[in-house]
Amino acid sequence: MSDFRGRFAPSPTGRMHLGNIRSALLGWLQARAAQGRFLLRIEDLDRARCKPPYVDDLMKDLRWLGLDWDETPLVQSQRDDAYREALSTLEREGLVYPCFCTRAEIARAASAPHGLSEEGPRYPGTCAHLTREQQAERAKTRPPAWRFRARPGEVSFVDALMGPHTQDVEAVVGDFVVRRNDGVASYQLAVVVDDAATHISHVLRGDDLLSSTPRQLQLYDALGAQAPGFLHVPLVMGEDGKRLAKREGAFALAELRERGLAPERVLGLLAAWSGLGDGTPRTLEALVQSFSVEALPRSPVVAREAQLVEALGLR
Ligand code: GLU
Repeated sequence: MSDFRGRFAPSPTGRMHLGNIRSALLGWLQARAAQGRFLLRIEDLDRARCKPPYVDDLMKDLRWLGLDWDETPLVQSQRDDAYREALSTLEREGLVYPCFCTRAEIARAASAPHGLSEEGPRYPGTCAHLTREQQAERAKTRPPAWRFRARPGEVSFVDALMGPHTQDVEAVVGDFVVRRNDGVASYQLAVVVDDAATHISHVLRGDDLLSSTPRQLQLYDALGAQAPGFLHVPLVMGEDGKRLAKREGAFALAELRERGLAPERVLGLLAAWSGLGDGTPRTLEALVQSFSVEALPRSPVVAREAQLVEALGLR
């Protein structure tokens, strides 16, 4: 057993589809090829969207493909104490502050249009320097979110697949939320606290999270924790150019499982999307043997309908 510790951290907001199971497979292959451990973590902080049946479903999907995990999975909805402790640490260091802004206020105040498109505009720092009295006054009207004071300057890291990546978090994102105003830890904080608590050495995930990594690196630093290495894989897209995640139907793994499809067919297709095969069936053992980071594609993979039908034998 090596020191390698990888993980898969799905949000149970729906049935798993071929796109997210591919990230699970690649993370598992990377860990097993390195004779390391592989952990599962349930990221269910978004109570409105996450549903327990999806947790059962995704565990069944993983087991069906033979993707096992070590140790007891952490469940984020049960980890609030750990997140509060981390927030207290940041508060003691003066690295966070309460923010009373509504979304609409932020949108109005944000002048620069160069914010992150998916995550809204850069936070303009409205609440960054309120006095205690002003904070107390504002707290009468609404509970605050808590924001981390983004450090100015570029954050750089080398992604194991995509190479060097740099972002000036302060300039692009601004001070970012670590606790939402409903008291729930933000994704950014929870993911760092949990990956640190479980000593994850390698994070492999979709490249939709590449732009979050610099923020997470700032949090590792602020919490005095060792950051893992990162590998972001380009996502699988449908022929319409939309992420597979947005598609339903034949892409849902549970459906393929329930149809009695051979898992090796699914593995063969996932391997083809990962530079590890030609779409014909594959066993997990064979994939562990052939796994290599160099083989992984560096640009988005298009899931062609014909290839899906062919590989899965759905004709
Ligand atoms: N829970 C996140 C998702 O399903 C992944 C978090 C991560 O891998 O850092 O998109």
